[in-house]
Amino acid sequence: MNILVANLGSTSFKFRLFRFDGAGGATMLAKGGYERVADHGKAIDDCLAELKAAGHVHAAADLHGVGFKTVLGKNLTGCVPADDRVIAALEGFKDIAPAHNPPYAAGIKRFSEKLPGVPLVALFETAFYQWMPEAATRYAVPEAWHQAGVRRFGFHGASHKFIAERSAELLGRTDIADRVRGLYQSGPVPAKGPALRVVSCHLGGSSSVTGIRDGVAIGTSMGLSPQSGLPQNNRVGDLDSAAVPFVMKTLGLPLAEVERQMTKESGLLGLSGVSNDLRDINAAAAQGSARAKLTLDVFAHSARHWIGAFHLELNGCDALVFTAGIGENNPDMRAAFCAGLDQLGIVIDPAKNAALRGTEGEISAAGSRVKIFVIPTNEELVVARETVRFIQSQKN
Ligand code: AMP
Repeated sequence: MNILVANLGSTSFKFRLFRFDGAGGATMLAKGGYERVADHGKAIDDCLAELKAAGHVHAAADLHGVGFKTVLGKNLTGCVPADDRVIAALEGFKDIAPAHNPPYAAGIKRFSEKLPGVPLVALFETAFYQWMPEAATRYAVPEAWHQAGVRRFGFHGASHKFIAERSAELLGRTDIADRVRGLYQSGPVPAKGPALRVVSCHLGGSSSVTGIRDGVAIGTSMGLSPQSGLPQNNRVGDLDSAAVPFVMKTLGLPLAEVERQMTKESGLLGLSGVSNDLRDINAAAAQGSARAKLTLDVFAHSARHWIGAFHLELNGCDALVFTAGIGENNPDMRAAFCAGLDQLGIVIDPAKNAALRGTEGEISAAGSRVKIFVIPTNEELVVARETVRFIQSQKN
């Protein structure tokens, strides 16, 4: 089964082609993309021409599905057919995700014209959060705001679902791993055995922490949009809502400029004044920059805040997992996230931690009650897998 995963940004189009064998094993056949894209339709045409020239996809019949990592839709989530209903849902929330929803809506339209008969599947980033307790989703806003859609949704759902599945496998809980695999087809079927409590930390250019019980999300650091929670690369993360009218009045900034600065000049870049990349900030801190050092401290403080929140909400934790660029590759930050938590049963093994970069493994000390794992995520593979699961569920 050949599955194409389309990743659309406001000015970019990236793709990966996977082949699945009968046992569910996946091989990546091709990967590519285009930057500074003005016309997503043309980029899609170029991608299909590239796959044809490489001998992978000669005709529509060689492609068994296209998966889209859609961000969020109005009144719609899950892993669903990428059809007019999805396009309307994306357009309904285009003001919350302006960089992603319009290109995905346009891309889905284009693929459906180019590849009639090929199943198109949308995996919403919000899908993993659809069973969160309502109290974890509500903001204390007037009812009309809530009715308009102002609530906590959650993002990085593909990545956190992957962590839920893989951490259950690593802990020998095949019952929970199976539950996670079928989540978008069956919903959360009753879980057996002792509760499995996981705190999943997706820390990279964009970061979020998710609490997971028995494979199902119970809370997220992300909110209405991916602008909340931890400081992001250029995005502000959590901010008191009073700050917006305050800077508009005192600095004389119009709303559009406040929005631009909150999304382009804040986060790790705004804090450090150096870069939005933690590697550069680490280097600046090592050379004595106090702002860079403070940036690392703020990031660690925020990650620990959310780890603590879910540790409490879950009444303990069986596994603490780090993933994405920073989580997978930055041992110093992992040590900072876990420092001084022995009374919570979280003890890192310094040698194992220092040695692990970009590969899967356990970094907890022998006596640590909580297992600490590094698990590299692969969001495109998750979209491809969920696309296969969806297509197969339609056949059964
Ligand atoms: P992501 O958005 O998941 O690609 O993560 C980007 C962030 O991960 C940046 O802040 C980088 O500092 C960090 N990162 C990515 N790759 C590495 C690496 N090989 N070593 C250290 N940090 C890395």
